Amino acid sequence: MKSIVIANWKMNPQILREASGLFRAVAKGVRGIKNIDVVIAPPFVYLPLLEVGRGKSVVALAAQDSFWEDRGAYTGEISPTMLKALGVTYVIIGHSERRMHLGETDEMVNKKIKAVLKAGLTPVLCVGERTRERVNEIPVFVGEQVKKALVGLKKGEFKNGVIAYEPVWAIGTGTPDTPEGATRAALYIRKIVRDMLGGNVADSLRVIYGGSVNAGNAASFISRDIRGMEGMLVGGASLKAEEFIEIVRRVSAQ
Ligand code: PEP
Repeated sequence: MKSIVIANWKMNPQILREASGLFRAVAKGVRGIKNIDVVIAPPFVYLPLLEVGRGKSVVALAAQDSFWEDRGAYTGEISPTMLKALGVTYVIIGHSERRMHLGETDEMVNKKIKAVLKAGLTPVLCVGERTRERVNEIPVFVGEQVKKALVGLKKGEFKNGVIAYEPVWAIGTGTPDTPEGATRAALYIRKIVRDMLGGNVADSLRVIYGGSVNAGNAASFISRDIRGMEGMLVGGASLKAEEFIEIVRRVSAQ
């Protein structure tokens, strides 16, 4: 399975000039790197403006969120069809910062997943426990989040989808999970998806890791032989072009 590395810029950078500079630098730097999908999720306002450089590059665009309705009186919201029309291909759904600061619930996440799929976009579902579980413990809470996010989907739906396992305690803290812990979570998530949506979806799904990833630790999370982690969702380190390019390089070399 081809790996995927997604840059989550969150609410950065502050001005367009910096955003397009970072985008261009990454697009140029990853051009020759083979067998990997590279995705950048900038703030909404930059999405249409970064399109120019994208034609020549291998970088795809993601949105950091989407609303579940297509149009109407929903002040401040952005719909999946609007994103699709801008050339966006992936949408991050249920990031822990949205769950924490904006009250996003599992039910809302579920509606967003369905809307994004209906629009022909690829969801990147984020799940992760808030506090560190005991070593060797199966992340039951994460399993429940996955089930609630995917409930009501038909067998076969979510094919080619992405699930990012991001332990909340590891995000932005400088303390990543261990590769063993992350792999255990990946196997468990894939099993849940298999039970819910069937083998086709479980086999085409990419489970990726997020939480204090940097160029030094990225490769250690990738475990291809047992269908463990097959990519990364990168926050802080994605704002430094050289570091992010190095992450992409090391993941692709695994
Ligand atoms: C994230 O926000 O998705 C994330 C993984 O952040 P960081 O890499 O900064 O821990």
